[in-house]
Amino acid sequence: MSHLRPLLGWSLSLLLLAPALQAATSPQLLRVYFHDRKDVRALAKSGADIVRHGDHWLEVVVPGDDEVSTQSTIHIQRILSRFDKQEVLVKNLDSLLDQFQGRPDLGVYHTVKEAHDELAAYAKQYPQICRVESIGKTFEGRDIEALVVGPQGAKAAGKPKFMFCGAHHSREWISVEVPMTLAKKLVTGYATDPATKALVDSRITWIIPVLNPDGTNYSQTASKMWRKNRRKNSDGSFGVDPNRNYGYQWGGLGASTYPDSDTYRGEAGFSEPETAAIRDLARREHFAADISFHSYSELVFWPWSYSDDHIDAAHETLYKKFATDMAAINGYTAEKSSDLYASSGDFDDFMFGDTKACSFTIELAQTFVPAESEVPDICEKNSNVCLWVMKNLEDAFPRMAHTPPASGTADGFNVQVTLNKDLYPDDNASSVSAVYSTADGSIASTELPAVAGQKAAFSGMIPAKAKAYHFEYKASDGQTVRWPPYRDFDAPASPQQRVAR
Ligand SMILES: [Zn+2]
Repeated sequence: MSHLRPLLGWSLSLLLLAPALQAATSPQLLRVYFHDRKDVRALAKSGADIVRHGDHWLEVVVPGDDEVSTQSTIHIQRILSRFDKQEVLVKNLDSLLDQFQGRPDLGVYHTVKEAHDELAAYAKQYPQICRVESIGKTFEGRDIEALVVGPQGAKAAGKPKFMFCGAHHSREWISVEVPMTLAKKLVTGYATDPATKALVDSRITWIIPVLNPDGTNYSQTASKMWRKNRRKNSDGSFGVDPNRNYGYQWGGLGASTYPDSDTYRGEAGFSEPETAAIRDLARREHFAADISFHSYSELVFWPWSYSDDHIDAAHETLYKKFATDMAAINGYTAEKSSDLYASSGDFDDFMFGDTKACSFTIELAQTFVPAESEVPDICEKNSNVCLWVMKNLEDAFPRMAHTPPASGTADGFNVQVTLNKDLYPDDNASSVSAVYSTADGSIASTELPAVAGQKAAFSGMIPAKAKAYHFEYKASDGQTVRWPPYRDFDAPASPQQRVAR
């Protein structure tokens, strides 16, 4: 009899697993409990979408098999059997969208067409401060549309640039709403709110509410909790996960090689039109800072995502501070993206690792598609986070430090500037130029030699005729660095000027 006991135990555990895992024609949401983070990593590697976690539990989507073959689902189930306790939170995730059946306008949520129509209406009504631009075309021929807010044409030159995007993932409908709210606030607040006007006039903001319009349209019209884009894969399954397809550290941890997986990384980095569009845009525009919105779990993430490794301490200190400040606005929790498990090929890693933008991911809300009554509050708080980023992160990782002098003499004023070797250890310069403009509009410069005994400090006098100034030097890659990047310091008033007043 003794051999029957383990057998009975085994079959019981199979029975317990059975309702959760058998014949899952619709995606399910499970909560599972873990002791060992190795199991979490294995689950992430299996291609499951882990949506939320606590210290010893996580919530995971087990995909349905009506849209995909079952290869990846079988693999996920095998890994899930390692977790000793599991609860089915939602037996049929698609059923959460039933409330929108018969309501093709999706209530407070924007359909893809509604979102794009609204952007077009803004461009028509406020042409002096915004325009619509397509940053790429999808497999199904849709435009990936951006509203570009700020001074247009030649007036845009030299302004810091920001990007806010939603709907990498189709079922995360709320992630469309925050960028749409930001767009509305900026263009409609311009005429009535001086602070909004100042922000719009001094910055260029790319708002891309629906990065993955094919998948989002599919989720919305078929009432499916679909995650990926709509590429037809070679095995007959659909979709690549755009947030595993960026070409920076592509193909590593937490991204699946199974085409039918929710986190399928694609055949190569940037194989997808959505990620290629962001790559081309970001390399061309050089964003100062950006946020990619997702749902859910109320978190503010900073890089790295691909690795458990931390970014260098100087950047991490700043990232942590910024994310904490942002979390104070929306009430979320700030953490490094790979705190629980790593996932490679994501947006922030590319934006920071490749383009040096100060890049965040925000996981909105407590579910993919929150109740309509919760949407206004989520959008208000998180569009305010965007405004904070626009106000505060134009120069998130400064190349230099400088305190403008309070006063000068009849000859000029002394300045000292220091290279930020913590953030840019490779920066070296034998001298730094102080570039200044004068009252008659002419531009001149003067060389500031290194301060004796201090390798990264430079000092000298700028003539009294200077009205405004900035610094320039050659970085190790031969590029000329301008600092501050988007503005000048005001020169202190000379004694004569002060008397004249
Ligand atoms: Zn997502």
